[in-house]
Amino acid sequence: MRDVVIIGGGPAGLCAGLYAARSGMDAVLIEAKFSGGQVGTTNLVENYPGFEHGIGGPELAMLMEQQAVGAGLSIEFESCTKLELEGDVKRVHLTSGEVVDAYAVILAMGAYPRKLGAKGEEEFRARGVSFCATCDGFIFKGKRVAVIGGGNTAAEDALYLANICESVTLVHRRNSLRAENALVTKLLTNPRITVMWDSVVDSFEGEAKLETMNVRNIKTNETTPVPVEGAFVAVGAVPNSDIVKGILELDESGSIKAGEDTRASITRVYAAGDIRTKPLRQIVTAVADGAVAAAAALQDIGLRVHNEPPRQICGFVGDPGAVQLVGNTV
Ligand SMILES: Cc1cc2nc3c(=O)[nH]c(=O)nc-3n(C[C@H](O)[C@H](O)[C@H](O)COP(=O)(O)OP(=O)(O)OC[C@H]3O[C@@H](n4cnc5c(N)ncnc54)[C@H](O)[C@@H]3O)c2cc1C
Repeated sequence: MRDVVIIGGGPAGLCAGLYAARSGMDAVLIEAKFSGGQVGTTNLVENYPGFEHGIGGPELAMLMEQQAVGAGLSIEFESCTKLELEGDVKRVHLTSGEVVDAYAVILAMGAYPRKLGAKGEEEFRARGVSFCATCDGFIFKGKRVAVIGGGNTAAEDALYLANICESVTLVHRRNSLRAENALVTKLLTNPRITVMWDSVVDSFEGEAKLETMNVRNIKTNETTPVPVEGAFVAVGAVPNSDIVKGILELDESGSIKAGEDTRASITRVYAAGDIRTKPLRQIVTAVADGAVAAAAALQDIGLRVHNEPPRQICGFVGDPGAVQLVGNTV
């Protein structure tokens, strides 16, 4: 029986593990692939505070893992396949068949950016095609860029990039934007932004780097080559929330509904990082969520004395020698 199981070893999970271990909780983290999550696949991170000249994603991931493990976090490299979250004791099923029981579960399974499926999208990834304007926009300072999408994220990205770049072409497959009215007004009156309505990107082309995207009007079927140095795909993020579908409340995108305190719709279950409904998906917001989730778990489990088994929660037969619990569980 653990105090807390953390599922997902990206920045949110690793930071939750660091805070949980440092607060004396018996914490285990379950990671399906490798530590760092999306950061582990990012060449250079330039906006994480403390690294003036940026830091390689895998290096940052390794540092986060080392620090958390050094503080006492255990990591198991396995996939979580099923969750039983309703009872006082949470049960986490792993691919090996092992079941980990805990008083609290922090869900930090992250998300991945939805792709367009256009030719060259993968080939020019990190060579002009990006899925994160906040992360990579600065690289294209003074250059011509495009944003593909029509929701709030695409509109925000276009406005963000218009402050940095020479010009922004917004490509949207419909003839109106799904973004909030205030954003739409700002976007349509910004002299640096041009919108290509009823249009899709068929392909990205270039030599060493992205040079052109071929945009097709779906009404006329006419294709226009648009010269750009950068193209930002903003057609949504796909949360890794399949294992909690039908168990927890999710929003329309599949993100777990939880507020700033990270508490999800079941007691002692928390959602941290990109998997949570939130306005900005970045490393700094993921680690912040991880810290908040660990603190909330500690408070909700209500441990008064650390490191003295057995932990007990409300509804279990008491043992005079057991650690006393306070807070919401009593
Ligand atoms: C290309 C790219 C570049 C980026 N660049 C930057 C940047 O420069 N700066 C910045 O601040 N942000 C950047 N981001 C965003 C940033 O990486 C994310 O916001 C951040 O990684 C979210 O952290 P997370 O821990 O919530 O999720 P993730 O990083 O997605 O980690 C989730 C982890 O959970 C694991 N997992 C999922 N399901 C299971 C399961 N069932 N069982 C066990 N493990 C599971 C996954 O394997 C993964 O390791 C970038 C994102 C991308 C895609």
